[in-house]
Amino acid sequence: EPSIYLVPTPIGNLQEMSERALEILKSVDVIACEDTRNTGKLLKHFDIKKPLLSHHEHNQDQSISKILDKIKEGQSVAIVSDAGYPLISDPGSYLVKQSIEQDIPVISISGPNAALDALVASGLETKHYLFYGFLDAKSKKRIQELEELASFPYTILFYEAPHRIEACLKDLLSVFGDRKIVLAREISKLHEEYLRGTISEILEVCSTLKGEMVLVVSGAKKEENQISIEDAAEFVHRYMEDG
Ligand code: SAM
Repeated sequence: EPSIYLVPTPIGNLQEMSERALEILKSVDVIACEDTRNTGKLLKHFDIKKPLLSHHEHNQDQSISKILDKIKEGQSVAIVSDAGYPLISDPGSYLVKQSIEQDIPVISISGPNAALDALVASGLETKHYLFYGFLDAKSKKRIQELEELASFPYTILFYEAPHRIEACLKDLLSVFGDRKIVLAREISKLHEEYLRGTISEILEVCSTLKGEMVLVVSGAKKEENQISIEDAAEFVHRYMEDG
């Protein structure tokens, strides 16, 4: 049956391309990708020759109808992004929604994901967590986003670009206070590194850091969500006076 396969690709180490992912890429008729040059390199490495279709946010109206047409013609399509899972801070979600609406089977293949890799090695709470992805590039909007997350009591995962990490950590410090964080850098690559400390400690060293990074931030402590006994007493007092 013609289907859409969501195929994750390595985030840094080509050995993490799974046998099943390779089998799928070999078996489909077309591969829809974010960047034909990047995916071209990956396919060349594994000696796979397939027609590529470019699919990113800017052309998605056209590319989605092309992809759905292929499937209606009886072809199977694999969706890949430059690294990790498609749809995770990468294109593809609208395509999946459309496919489901049109009763096209959507099949997910397991594989690498930068956020999960960082989470499990972080040493922070893994039982419950939130993947946020990228914060806004502008500080004002970023602070608003962080304010919404400030009382979330579980671990939060962010993606961030190296040229914005310092500005991002400053905003994190001002909204969240000096929490424990882990900065995971260049996962599965030569310069893989986990920096563990408080936000202010990581802020001191972050300006020299390069490469791809994930920020793992510990959740708000339960006490921080609650107003202090004095504030509560003040509130009750005022309420009684007004009432
Ligand atoms: N789809 C990908 C996934 O499933 O992880 C994420 C793509 S997103 C456009 C790219 C961001 O993921 C980078 O800016 C960085 O925050 C994170 N990232 C990707 N590869 C990484 C790596 N090897 N080490 C650390 N972070 C990585």
